[in-house]
Amino acid sequence: MKIYRFEHGGAVRWGVLGDDALLPLAGSIFEDPAPEGDPIPIGEVRLLAPVQPSKIVAVGRNYEDHAAEMGNPLPAEPMLFLKAPTAVIGPREAIIYPAVSSRVDYEGELAVVIRKTAHGLSEAADAADYILGYTCLNDVTARDLQEKDQFTRAKSFDTFAPLGPCIATDLDPASLEIKTFLNGKLRQSSNTRHLIFSVPFLVRFISRIMTLLPGDVITTGTPAGVGPMQPGDRVDIQIEGIGTLSNEVRTAG
Ligand code: MG
Repeated sequence: MKIYRFEHGGAVRWGVLGDDALLPLAGSIFEDPAPEGDPIPIGEVRLLAPVQPSKIVAVGRNYEDHAAEMGNPLPAEPMLFLKAPTAVIGPREAIIYPAVSSRVDYEGELAVVIRKTAHGLSEAADAADYILGYTCLNDVTARDLQEKDQFTRAKSFDTFAPLGPCIATDLDPASLEIKTFLNGKLRQSSNTRHLIFSVPFLVRFISRIMTLLPGDVITTGTPAGVGPMQPGDRVDIQIEGIGTLSNEVRTAG
């Protein structure tokens, strides 16, 4: 199923997509949510980021072709960094181009949404038990600031983590087509089978470093084809079985 978070009539809710309508859910999507109330036509809602994570754990250099295009060797272990949860925006919200950067890139990525607390998972643990589903994330990066510190500045400006449009459950992350379009032109095209470190491996590995909480997001890295965006551009990230995350770029003010 596809779970959306939306605002309708002043209330924020989750709902499951039916025929052109969202069936609102009662309770938490991290437990056993049940449908409640009348369907709401999707045209009447404002879609929001599907979750508000306590943290976003990002994986750098996780596709061979992207490592090559950046002139980097392949990592022996996952290269992790954090993106600030305050960077999250939803579908159709604007990415704000910071005045202090002159090179802001898109990075289309498959993101994992955690369902239940994961701590210290062994290699024998079934990571799928801890995963609610999958969504798209644009790991927006101020490339010219990336060498200034430990990635934090370059990756965590407000609006630098577009997320959505929904959480797709019942999806096998091992082989999903992933594409990024800039103003309708294809810029990235790959498949998650080219991930160096798989989704289950990443969940277990990260859980042994920091406790993953319900709603936390792991973003799995970007394939080749990253490039700059300008104010006025539109970026669409499309992942098989999930849908398309669309955002425009604007200057502040
Ligand atoms: Mg990235």
